[in-house]
Amino acid sequence: MNQLTLSTSSILADGSRRLSQSSPSPHTYLDNRVIKSQRGTKRTRSQRARERLQTKQHLVGLARGLHEGELADKLERCHSRLSVLTCGRHIARIIPNFTCEFRLCPDCGRRRSRKLQNKYLPAMRGFMLHHKVTPVHLVLTQTHRKENRKQSAKRIKDSLTRLQRRGFWKEYFKGGTWSLEFTKDKNGLHHTHLHIIGFRRKFFDIELLRGEWLAATGDSHVIHLKKIEDIAAGLREVVKYVSKPLDIRRFGAADLKEFLGLKNMRMFGTFGEFRDFCKDFEPSDTDADGSDLESFSRDLVEGCACPQCDEPLFDLRMSGRELPQFYEQAESSPPGKVGTKWN
Ligand SMILES: [Zn+2]
Ligand SMILES: [Zn+2]
Repeated sequence: MNQLTLSTSSILADGSRRLSQSSPSPHTYLDNRVIKSQRGTKRTRSQRARERLQTKQHLVGLARGLHEGELADKLERCHSRLSVLTCGRHIARIIPNFTCEFRLCPDCGRRRSRKLQNKYLPAMRGFMLHHKVTPVHLVLTQTHRKENRKQSAKRIKDSLTRLQRRGFWKEYFKGGTWSLEFTKDKNGLHHTHLHIIGFRRKFFDIELLRGEWLAATGDSHVIHLKKIEDIAAGLREVVKYVSKPLDIRRFGAADLKEFLGLKNMRMFGTFGEFRDFCKDFEPSDTDADGSDLESFSRDLVEGCACPQCDEPLFDLRMSGRELPQFYEQAESSPPGKVGTKWN
């Protein structure tokens, strides 16, 4: 606990300072999470594609075990056949045969998080420019109790509502986004976190916010705060929890069952003046500065030049299971060499 307090204040005092390494504590998770994201360790696309396949197979198995045949079928069909627009080395666009839209599906989660980024990034940039606010990433946690996921999520969201009604919050934050992340500890207790991108009007001492969160929750004061230097990266990090709300590979049948009961729970939202800003915000052409990859690649067809290397694009049909291997070969091949094997 002390380490967390220390490390949290040292970020605030000096954004460039490193977090102190912590020995195991109940909050090591939080420290690790921040350290990990700062290190920016990246897996290759083939590794990520392989993980998505494994996650999906795991989910299908769980769904079958719960006699959720329809869900299992949908998951299996989702992204099972792909039309891949490629130069042989880079992938410009992937069109799946079918998307299941299940909230835990890693393929659909990826699409969803891209959509959120495309929707909110221009609005965030516009908001920051217009209001001269500084974005911060805030992690709010709560004490662990014996409760189910739904109760845990409701408790932390209610606390956020209370926090937002307080004078402090209104004075220092102009709005932002929130998203929920779920984890479980070794004892099976739910850790629910709120990740917030808050648009800060002016600097404040983190201890003040800690006190406010304690007042809103009644018993929790563990928070984390860091300044966001790059809003695109900050948003990407936060929407990650929307696409991957929990560690599914450690998921059991009971977890899936519980999750299915959460059907309509919101995992992401906007608040404050940013919420109203988003309603009226129309991105101008200059806002689409290449970060909106989705709409950019939507216009690409066979014969167009690859945006990354100018080689002509062609259409490859493959099964979803072949994608990791395709990435693997593409990652290590010179231009134009991979596609021939796959035709
Ligand atoms: Zn899906
Ligand atoms: Zn290329």
